[in-house]
Amino acid sequence: MNKLLLHACCAPCLTAPLERLVDKFDGPVTVLFYNPNIAPQAEHDKRLGEVERYLKGRYGTAVDLIALPPDREAFDATTAPFADTDERGVRCTVCYFLRLRRTFEEAKARGMTHAATTLTVSPHKDAKRLNSMGLGLEKRYGVSYLTGMWEYARTLELCREYAIYRQNYCGCTASMRERDERRREHKEKKGGRP
Ligand code: SF4
Repeated sequence: MNKLLLHACCAPCLTAPLERLVDKFDGPVTVLFYNPNIAPQAEHDKRLGEVERYLKGRYGTAVDLIALPPDREAFDATTAPFADTDERGVRCTVCYFLRLRRTFEEAKARGMTHAATTLTVSPHKDAKRLNSMGLGLEKRYGVSYLTGMWEYARTLELCREYAIYRQNYCGCTASMRERDERRREHKEKKGGRP
């Protein structure tokens, strides 16, 4: 029996990979929402709510969902030394690893044969690095990793079709600051005041 645990970072990134994978396994695909990086709590809950709404509306009982509580204090403590590194730098590598490792732990504990993550769909993520991490974890946990290179354009279509909320920062407080900085620079370029 082939069973998949699919880590989802958010509803937009979940759309296209799940569409591709939903009927390729024995029994329902299980989606795992584990994202201790997302701050504040209200934003975390909003993104989880969108995942729930999308799954229920499109797939009904054909997909299972597991939502793990966000142990954000542990996340912040682990990533704090790298808080000032750029997006796609060490901070993100650690963030990817924490979420992928937990995905493999859960997959192993729940008797899943395969694991994957929707993180690779976003052009803001380093898919090559994520896939090489996944293949390393595959060896450690004995759970097959699907090296996903999903269609980003399809996620945009599905977001429009299902009116899915698309967040404007990646998730952690550092990415929130970077978004604010980009906005400020943009405003300055246009001649406005910050
Ligand atoms: S920018 Fe995104 S991937 Fe990088 S550390 Fe922050 S939440 Fe994680």
